Amino acid sequence: MSLWYCRVCGLAYDESPWGQDDRTPDFTFCECCGAEFGYNDYSPESARRHRSRWLEQGAGWFYPNLQPTEWSPASQLANIPKRFQ
Ligand SMILES: [Zn+2]
Repeated sequence: MSLWYCRVCGLAYDESPWGQDDRTPDFTFCECCGAEFGYNDYSPESARRHRSRWLEQGAGWFYPNLQPTEWSPASQLANIPKRFQ
């Protein structure tokens, strides 16, 4: 099964929140950057906008208790799909 990467922060997911057709977002929130799928990541521009706000605010986890102890924002950001970088 292929992983899906958050368009804003690059966090890996087992399933796409955009659905199997890639057009049906479930409007849940990224547990890392807090982007609302289908809203904050609907276009490359909106993804970049949310990303710069998230980075400016210190790149904290939306659900802090889910943050891995050895977490590297830089290597995660490298996973952002090209179109949304
Ligand atoms: Zn994210």
